[in-house]
Amino acid sequence: MPEVIIIGAGVIGCSIAYHLAKMGCHDVTILEKNLIGSGSTDRCAGGIRQQFSTEANIRLSVESVRFFERFEEEIGHPADFRQNGYLMLATTEAELEIFRQSVALQRSLGAEVNLLSSQEAREIVPGLNVDDVLGATHCSDDGYADPYSVVQGFASAARRLGVKIHPETEVTGIMRTGRTWCLLTSKGKLQSPTVVVATGAWSGQVGKMLGVDIPVHPSRRHIFVTTPLHEIAKNAPMVVEFCNGFWFRREGPGLIFGMRNPEEPESFDISVDWGFLPTIAETASHRLPFLKDMGVVRAQAGLHEDTPDANAIIDGVPGMEGLYLACGFSGHGFMHSPAVGRLVASLVLEKQAISELAPFTLERFKAGAYRKEQCFI
Ligand SMILES: Cc1cc2nc3c(=O)[nH]c(=O)nc-3n(C[C@H](O)[C@H](O)[C@H](O)COP(=O)(O)OP(=O)(O)OC[C@H]3O[C@@H](n4cnc5c(N)ncnc54)[C@H](O)[C@@H]3O)c2cc1C
Repeated sequence: MPEVIIIGAGVIGCSIAYHLAKMGCHDVTILEKNLIGSGSTDRCAGGIRQQFSTEANIRLSVESVRFFERFEEEIGHPADFRQNGYLMLATTEAELEIFRQSVALQRSLGAEVNLLSSQEAREIVPGLNVDDVLGATHCSDDGYADPYSVVQGFASAARRLGVKIHPETEVTGIMRTGRTWCLLTSKGKLQSPTVVVATGAWSGQVGKMLGVDIPVHPSRRHIFVTTPLHEIAKNAPMVVEFCNGFWFRREGPGLIFGMRNPEEPESFDISVDWGFLPTIAETASHRLPFLKDMGVVRAQAGLHEDTPDANAIIDGVPGMEGLYLACGFSGHGFMHSPAVGRLVASLVLEKQAISELAPFTLERFKAGAYRKEQCFI
């Protein structure tokens, strides 16, 4: 019987497994219904930023950035972390006020974020239309890494420390039998005293197996890839427009970009909605006028795992001993995976509440006592 079973081999499950093994708990099994990283992780943009509005998220980011900086040294696998920075754009006074307050908090917690004028933003990214930009924030330590390399790195490092990963093993039922959890899977039954649910956008479904309401809602997001271009430098930052979540960054010879679709219904559909391209193309070519003459060569879609306050759920389930949740990362699970892995491993092994995780409890939704993360994409 494994000491710990983790459901889901995305970046969160693999980081938790690695950290558990590093802390001395080697008897860990991960059950994954498809392949390692095949959920949202391999479909994400790899952005890593410290520009959040709440202390809890900034702390997760600051710790994670330091980890990504030494990822290869610790994990023995490159993360391709490029600290090209992140530039966030405000187009209204209300957004600028959020930026001012957030920058003060970010700096007090060790994130070197600066408030910039629109002209300063344009100096960082020539080619950017800043006519309607009132201000920006920039952090040069932020950037992006390769999601495939990071999840495979965590998985291989965990395996070297004894963790077993079972791909193509779907968990179909979970029940309590005495002091252990019994998991029904597509390949048979398994038992363990401790189970961690790290099933990303599918966590609500796993909650149903447990009779627990886990408010994680799947929401499709796209990444469009342009033809090669030279207008944006290879080392340009990731740029995010605060009001609509439009973002872009360099990827190979072209740009990749995406945006929230407020009309998107909740679903597990990850086919590409080409009908959304004209809407996003309008926003994109307003911000980057040269894009009017560019082509889009391909696109992919994946799922965000959104919660009502755009914050993760990282918690032991009240009244269900040995059952933990690490899900609902609301579009920032990749960047927070190193710190989350360490914290969940500590939570599981020490079996005590951790003050840094207080804003991420499941109970906050019942109590209606939560603070929405303003800087979500
Ligand atoms: C287009 C897009 C862009 C994004 N950009 C960024 C970004 O720039 N930065 C950032 O930090 N985040 C970004 N994200 C979000 C990021 O991808 C997620 O927050 C992160 O990957 C969550 O990791 P996870 O391990 O929790 O989930 P996942 O990677 O989805 O892993 C969960 C795993 O659980 C498995 N699973 C589910 N149910 C079961 C079951 N019953 N039995 C067994 N296995 C099961 C799934 O197959 C899956 O592999 C983006 C997401 C998308 C879609």
